[in-house]
This record gives sequence, structure tokens and C-alpha cells, in this order.
Amino acid sequence: MTEMYDIAIIGGGPIGMFTAFYAGLRDTKAVLVESLATLGGQVTSLYPEKKILDVAGFVGVKGSELIDSLTEQMQLFPIEVKTSATVTNLTKTDGLFTVEINYKQTFQAKTVIIATGKGAFEPRKMQGNNVNELVGQGVHYFVPNKHYFDQHDVAIAGGGDSAVDMATMLNELTHSTTLIHRRNQFRAMEQSVKLLDESSVVKETPKKVMNVTKQDDGKLKIILAQVKDETVVNEIIVDDLIINYGFISENKTVQSWAVQPGHNNQEFSVNQNLQTTVPGVFAIGDASFYDGKADLIAVGFGEAPTAVNAAIKFFDPNRRGPGHSSSIVVEDRQLK
Ligand SMILES: Cc1cc2nc3c(=O)[nH]c(=O)nc-3n(C[C@H](O)[C@H](O)[C@H](O)COP(=O)(O)OP(=O)(O)OC[C@H]3O[C@@H](n4cnc5c(N)ncnc54)[C@H](O)[C@@H]3O)c2cc1C
Repeated sequence: MTEMYDIAIIGGGPIGMFTAFYAGLRDTKAVLVESLATLGGQVTSLYPEKKILDVAGFVGVKGSELIDSLTEQMQLFPIEVKTSATVTNLTKTDGLFTVEINYKQTFQAKTVIIATGKGAFEPRKMQGNNVNELVGQGVHYFVPNKHYFDQHDVAIAGGGDSAVDMATMLNELTHSTTLIHRRNQFRAMEQSVKLLDESSVVKETPKKVMNVTKQDDGKLKIILAQVKDETVVNEIIVDDLIINYGFISENKTVQSWAVQPGHNNQEFSVNQNLQTTVPGVFAIGDASFYDGKADLIAVGFGEAPTAVNAAIKFFDPNRRGPGHSSSIVVEDRQLK
């Protein structure tokens, strides 16, 4: 017989994970479905080493630590988690949703909460030179473990939040850190730019990377040029070049589902209950859009209980609640 759930949560990023916990707290039969082999979404895949400053209650938390805590929190309840499971279709028949995984298995759900972010993501590549041939040979798009760079000479290309934060973070470990950006101004949070200015990070601005070569001694020679006319200005020798130009995402799988709530580019439009234009289907986190929406973890965490509570009202209008978690008794051993 096909398995039936109260709530199917699609997407196991930080917001889907917290939603799964809250669905457990409200004693629903929920399932969390994630296409990647590991949970944590953008945080796990793109910036596990970065310190996140704007999650309530944490005075700065490393990405991987936040995901570890969410995993532990989720395990307070017997929520089913399916990883390496891409939702390839969503259909609705007789008021029930059928969720198809990897084009073969299916299960049913009374409601669906979409937490797919902006879909699959990958780093935006540096173009116009040979740098991509050296990925894995000193050129990096990801920093899975910052200690790899201990005492290295490191250059970072980019000028946004992530590049600036990475420069100041790695500068505590590296022998030297250089930040290469096309403009003199950095597009990062004011506090991050202040920290950068106070640090010993060397700024190479306004400059672009013209060419990178691997020397016989294993080091990288980076030729820097003026942005306007590409006149070569100087060169630097480093162990590593980290390219941090942000990320691009694609949402083709989600947009091929039979159930297709109204959307605006890659985000689903929702009402104040986080319900999409399809009754019983909710969208939260980076996957949802409303006026004033900010794509922040703190915002998505706030949306999760609203969506779960609205989903419960949808399939069980007579159910009372929500109460306060502090009045719910969970086995002592789990809360120690
Ligand atoms: C470099 C960087 C730094 C950032 N720093 C901060 C910060 O300091 N503070 C902050 O608040 N925010 C920050 N953000 C933004 C934050 O990471 C996102 O707002 C957050 O990850 C959104 O969480 P989510 O769960 O909605 O989506 P995601 O994290 O994108 O997770 C969505 C998940 O859904 C899965 N998925 C997609 N399609 C399917 C499918 N069809 N079937 C099954 N699974 C699917 C994906 O594999 C993914 O794991 C940063 C983002 C980046 C890129």
C-alpha cells in the first residue's frame, strides 16, 4: 500500500529541517525529502565553514554547526527523512497529493510544504581566462574545510558578502590573504567591510584576474589587470585562488511538476499563511515570495511554524493549537 503522510516537506535545507522538527513537535506524520545525499542545503554545500551572524540566539555559528544542531533537534521526533531523493513530480487527485521520487517511487500526502530554495545550485564561474583548467590544482570554488589553508598564501576573487567574510575568516589562519575585486567598494554588510578594513587582508582593487599559471614550485602566478582596458598592472604568487562570485541556481525539476503553484521567477507566491495558489501546498524559505521577503535563514525559520500550523488546519480543521513548546513533555533523555 502507498505510504500516506500528513505533511510532505520537500527540500532538506535549514528551513526544511526546522519545518520537519516543528511538524514532529506538533505530532504529525511528516516526511522530509532531499535530493542531495546530505541535509543542510546551501549551508552544507556552499558555506559550511562560514560564521553566520544573524541567526537568533547564536552569537555567530559556523554553518556546519548550525546544521548539526538542526539535525539533533529534528531527531527529537521520529520524522522520516529521505535523502538522495529528488521530487520529480507532484500531482493532486481527489484532494490528496502524490509525490514522485527519482521518477519511480511514490507516496501520498495530505499537504505539501515546498522548501526547495531556488533549486539546485552551483558556483558562478570566472570567465574569460584559463582559470577553470586549474580547479583542483590550487583553484577552488568551495571551502569545505578552512584548515586546508593553514599558513597558505591565499587570494580570493570577489567583492560580495561571502568573499569579504571568507577573506577575514581565512586571514586568521593563512600566511597571507589577498582580496581581488573589480571595484573599490565591497558589496558586503557594513560590519563585514569594517572588519575587513581593520584586518591585514591585502586589497587588490579595482582589478581583474587576467591569467593564472601553475609554476614549477606548485604555486599559482596570478596576473592582475585594470578592469577598464585590461592593462596588466601586477602579479601575485599564491598557493591558492578561491573564486567567490556567488551562485546560480536552476529550478527546472520543480517547474516540471504537474501541480504548479503560481510563481514569480524561481519563487512561489504565498499568502500570509505561506499557502501557495494551490490549496494544501505551502512554500517557505528561499522558495517563497511575498512583498518584503528577505532570503535569510532567520526569516525561513519564522515561516516554518506558520506553514506547519496552517497545514494542520488544512487537513484537520478541528485540531487545537498550537501551544507553547515549553508545555510539551518530550522524554527527558532526549532533552538533557
Ligand atoms: C554564500 C552564502 C552565504 C549566506 N550567508 C547567509 C547568512 O549569513 N545568513 C543568512 O540568514 N542567510 C545566508 N545565506 C542565505 C541562506 O543560506 C538561505 O537563505 C538558506 O539556505 C535558505 O534555506 P532553504 O532551506 O530555504 O533553501 P536551501 O538551503 O537552498 O535548501 C533547499 C534544499 O532543497 C533541495 N531541493 C531542491 N529541489 C529539490 C527537489 N526537487 N526534490 C528534493 N529536494 C530538492 C536542495 O537540494 C536543497 O538542499 C547565504 C547564502 C549563500 C549562498
